[in-house]
Amino acid sequence: MKPEIIDGGEELDVAAPRCFGKIARLQTSWIEANPLRRFHVCPNLSGRKKKGCGFFVWVDVEFPPREKALVGWLLRRLKEREKDVRHRQSRERKLMGWLIHSWGLVMLLLFWQFL
Ligand SMILES: [Zn+2]
Repeated sequence: MKPEIIDGGEELDVAAPRCFGKIARLQTSWIEANPLRRFHVCPNLSGRKKKGCGFFVWVDVEFPPREKALVGWLLRRLKEREKDVRHRQSRERKLMGWLIHSWGLVMLLLFWQFL
């Protein structure tokens, strides 16, 4: 496995190992046990169907416990906010739908008035 520089984005500083000739895929962990920690996996791994050869190696060192807890807390807060935004957006869509329907009804009533 000869290290290779992946071309593009934030991955520029990372030397990528190879797995059976193909450059290992760089991914970022979002789980609380290892937040924002990058790792390389077998390029043949995709979803649950293709398992690949099982190659896996961390790129970044593990966060110290305090930092890990802080990042975990921030990620939880972020997820809560995103959930809140989605909830508000769906309520907004419902209200908009209701508004459009009620406008249609008002127009219909006005139309009848002038017949
Ligand atoms: Zn592989």
